[in-house]
Amino acid sequence: MTTNEERAKRHKIAMQRKKKHIDNRISKAKKNKGLLVILTGNGKGKSSSAFGMLARSVGHGLRCGVVQFIKGSWECGEQILFSGHPRVDFYVMNTGFTWETQDREKDIIAAEKTWQKAEMLLKSADHNVVILDELTYMITYGYLDKNLILNCLKKRPKDQHVIVTGRNAAKELLDIADTISEVGNSKHAFDSGIKVQKGIDY
Ligand code: ATP
Ligand code: MG
Repeated sequence: MTTNEERAKRHKIAMQRKKKHIDNRISKAKKNKGLLVILTGNGKGKSSSAFGMLARSVGHGLRCGVVQFIKGSWECGEQILFSGHPRVDFYVMNTGFTWETQDREKDIIAAEKTWQKAEMLLKSADHNVVILDELTYMITYGYLDKNLILNCLKKRPKDQHVIVTGRNAAKELLDIADTISEVGNSKHAFDSGIKVQKGIDY
């Protein structure tokens, strides 16, 4: 047998073993459930991942809701694309970053007003997927009541998927999540003096 044939044979055996293992795991995953997905951490890729799932969901014809906390002082590509979409209800807090507004009282009023939209979506059995972008900061800054958020998430329709993004997600939020991805910051162009790039950063 040539080296190539030996290699092909070894590969086939390894792949057969792998397939058996994967098929076994797939056969054990039988449940269906609305997921709470949390995308947190200091690296880039949290919101863009959430909007990737929105694209998938919309592609499948699902009804979706998006609430963007904090963001809004500039228009992101995802907002331009999805806000006019017939299957997406898109709400933006529109205050900009807290270090821009520098006004706690005003931020709290805006956060509470924006949360009402989130609460409405979390009660709607018609919405299959809800994105709460940058929600974690509303808890960290104490703009919104953590228990109110937790209760609304727990009481939402059983098959509704919710995706929460933002750094420093509260422990209680992580505790009730089904999937958590901690996006790490290995390198970011901004640290090399490169400005935000259209399509990549916003
Ligand atoms: P994205 O929207 O690109 O997925 P994100 O949601 O993970 O980013 P945010 O903290 O919401 O990150 O910040 C949004 C903006 O800040 C984006 O323009 C992103 O490129 C930038 N950013 C994210 N992480 C870092 C970082 N570690 N250093 C500098 N800029 C960052
Ligand atoms: Mg983000």
